[in-house]
Amino acid sequence: MPIPLLDLKAQYLELKDDLDSAIGEVMSSAGFIGGPRVRELEAAIAEYCGTAHAVACANGTEALFLIMHALGIRAGDEVITTPFTFIATAEAIAHVGATPVFVDIEPDTYNIDVSKIEAAITERTKAIMPVHIFGQCADMAPLLEIAERHGLRVIEDACQAIGATYKGKRAGSLADVAAFSFFPSKNLGCAGDGGIITTDDTDIATACRKMANHGTTVKYYHDTIGVNSRLDALQAAILLVKLPHLDRWNAERRAAAAVYDELLADLPLGRVTTREYGENVYHLYIVASPERDRLMDVLKAAGIGTAAYYPVPLHRQEAFAHLGYGEGSLPVAEAACPQTFALPAYPGITREQQEEVAAVLREALGG
Ligand SMILES: *Cc1c(COP(=O)(O)O)cnc(C)c1O
Repeated sequence: MPIPLLDLKAQYLELKDDLDSAIGEVMSSAGFIGGPRVRELEAAIAEYCGTAHAVACANGTEALFLIMHALGIRAGDEVITTPFTFIATAEAIAHVGATPVFVDIEPDTYNIDVSKIEAAITERTKAIMPVHIFGQCADMAPLLEIAERHGLRVIEDACQAIGATYKGKRAGSLADVAAFSFFPSKNLGCAGDGGIITTDDTDIATACRKMANHGTTVKYYHDTIGVNSRLDALQAAILLVKLPHLDRWNAERRAAAAVYDELLADLPLGRVTTREYGENVYHLYIVASPERDRLMDVLKAAGIGTAAYYPVPLHRQEAFAHLGYGEGSLPVAEAACPQTFALPAYPGITREQQEEVAAVLREALGG
């Protein structure tokens, strides 16, 4: 039996009756934009994350973009972030005309290396945007301390980390403001695109909501130029059905990670270190090998799904060539990119399936 990287069909079948009836309700109400399900979801996510506000929007990329606007980040400003992430993180910075400044990562968590942030701060720096990569929070306490000392805003790209904790607090509540994605493959995914912003700051929440709604608070009166970035009522209804299951799914991801940690312990593979400061929600279970491409081919031939995260660090992407980061400028990220890949570790994967993955890897590695 093939083992996919992710099994979204099984997740649907598990909740089919509830999902179908939630979708049916929205269809019968014919209220597709805004409405009670979207407001309910915002309240539920704010409560889940422990923030005063949540503002739903079209996707995680736009959540980051709306935040950039709300914070007044613009041309000439710099935002410090990580090169080891999905392109959306830096796109949001570039789309408001600001410059992403990339800081290298830790070799064992792949999160931004906080000890290297201060050296990257200039007069133009306005904010720091850590990414909680693969479901583990960046080391926020020292990061926030640096931001405070330099008067900088901090934005969490929490798109991979819904439910993760740092010193007892949930991702999304750790800094000024945070972005989440409900892309189907995320730990909490909808049936299309979706996103949400969480914050305790009423001004940021209001500014994001206004920007997402054509720069208006009173219909057909526009005091700023905004965009259309809404979460569909259908997506909100689907997410409300799934949210009560998120903690269990995250626990299943953690359990699957613990099984791999045990099965792969004696193999020559790099694995992610989970720091003691919080709970990892293992958006992806990542291993690293200089023989990544060969191992992925062998696994594929055995019917096992994998994917490389991330093949090219952002500072070496053609889209950011104008920033002038040469080869070797961020060596830890550059060393990781040709090596790191994800193994199947979704909620509901069985120990047997994981044993099969481990056996194929063991044989491929010669022992
Ligand atoms: C998925 C993701 C995004 C973007 O979310 P979309 O909903 O796909 O726009 C941004 N940052 C990170 C780290 C992500 O994983």
